Amino acid sequence: MAITPLMNDGMDGAPAKRVLHSMQEQKEKGRRIVGIYCGYAPIELIQAMDLVPAVLCAFAEGPIASAETVLPANLCPLIKSSYGYILEGTCPFFGLSEAVVAETTCDGKKKMFELAAEVKPMHVMDLPQLPDEAEALVNWTAMIRKLQGFLEKTFDRRVSDDAIEASIKATNRKNRLMRRIFDYAALHPPLLCWQEMYDVGFLALPARGEEIEPLLESLLARLAVRREQGECFGTERSPRVLVTGCPVGGDALKIFRIIEEAGGLVVTPDSCTGIKSFLGETEEDTGDPVAAIARRYLAIPCACMTPNTRRLTALSQLIDRFRPDAVVDFVLTACHSYNVESHKIGRHVGERHGLPYLKIESNYSKSDEGQIRTKIEALFEIARS
Ligand code: SF4
Ligand code: SF4
Repeated sequence: MAITPLMNDGMDGAPAKRVLHSMQEQKEKGRRIVGIYCGYAPIELIQAMDLVPAVLCAFAEGPIASAETVLPANLCPLIKSSYGYILEGTCPFFGLSEAVVAETTCDGKKKMFELAAEVKPMHVMDLPQLPDEAEALVNWTAMIRKLQGFLEKTFDRRVSDDAIEASIKATNRKNRLMRRIFDYAALHPPLLCWQEMYDVGFLALPARGEEIEPLLESLLARLAVRREQGECFGTERSPRVLVTGCPVGGDALKIFRIIEEAGGLVVTPDSCTGIKSFLGETEEDTGDPVAAIARRYLAIPCACMTPNTRRLTALSQLIDRFRPDAVVDFVLTACHSYNVESHKIGRHVGERHGLPYLKIESNYSKSDEGQIRTKIEALFEIARS
C-alpha cells in the first residue's frame, strides 16, 4: 500500500534546505544566529535571548580531505568534517552564525575548537564529566551562567529569568510533541520510517517551541489518519532495530539505509540526531531557571560521561517502549568514548534484554557498505531464529 508522505508540502527529505531558508529569512528580519554542535548546547537559554541556534554541518565525507591538511587523519570523521566545512567555508549555517557555542565533550573536538576560534568567536563550555559528583552540577551551572554572560555581551542584550522560564516551557512542550510523534514508531508495524523521524528531528531541534508546534500538531493529525487507514512500514515480521551510539546524519545515514535495504525497520534512532535530544524535560517554575537547565543537560547520557549509567537506564526504557528485535551500536571511527562504552552496552542488551547486539564501527565513506550489509543480514538471521 502506498503511504502518504508525512510532510506533504513538497519538503520531505529536504530538512536542511527548509531550516536554512527559515534562518536566512530570520537573519534578513534582523534576528541573530548562534552556531551549535552538540546536545549539551542549552537551546532554551539561546532562544530566551531571542537568538536563533543553528546546528552546524558535520556529517559529510567531502570536506574531510581539506580538514586532513591540518588535522590528523586518525580523528573522528565528525570532527574532521566539521572543521573541513569551516576551512572550505561551505557550511551555510556557520556562515550565518555570529558566534559558536562549543563544549569540551572530547579531546579531538576541544582541540579543533581552538583552531575554529581563529575563524569565528567561539565560547567553549567546560563540561564536567563525572556527572554524579556534587561539584559537577555546581560547575556546570556556573558554565551556563558564563555562557549567558558571553551571549549578553556579544549580542548586547540582557535576558530575564521570566524569559528563560518561558523558553523552558516552550521547549518542554515541543519535546512532548516530539515524543508523541516517535510513539508512532513504537507501533507494530511502525507508522513512521527512519527518514521521517530524522527529518522531523532536524526541523524541530533548533526551532522555538511556539514556532514548530503547529507543524508538529499537523504531523500528529496525519499520523492519526495513517493509523485509521492502516498505513504502516514493513510487516509484523520485519526485524525492528534500535540504533544507539554516535550521532547519525548526512553520509552516516548509510547505516539506516542499509538496515532498511536488508528488510529491517529502524524504530528507534537513539542518538543526539534522533530521539535522545527530545527525551529530557527541564523542571519548570523552580525560581532558578538556569540551574534547572543545568540539571537537565548534565543528565544527558553521552559516552563522554563516566560512569554513564544513565545511558543503560535510558536504553532499557527505549527497549521497553519500542520493543526492538535487535540493537545496532553505531560507533564513529576513532570515537574512543562510544567505542569503549560499547562493551557495556552489548552486555546490557544481551543480559538484561536477551536481544542480539551488533557494533558497527564506521566513518562517512561508502567503502564499507558491503561489509556492513553482510553483518546486518547476519544479525537479522539471529534475530529471526
Ligand atoms: S554524542 Fe555527546 S558529544 Fe556527541 S553531540 Fe551528543 S552529547 Fe554531544
Ligand atoms: S563522535 Fe565521539 S570523537 Fe567524534 S566528536 Fe562525538 S564524542 Fe567526539
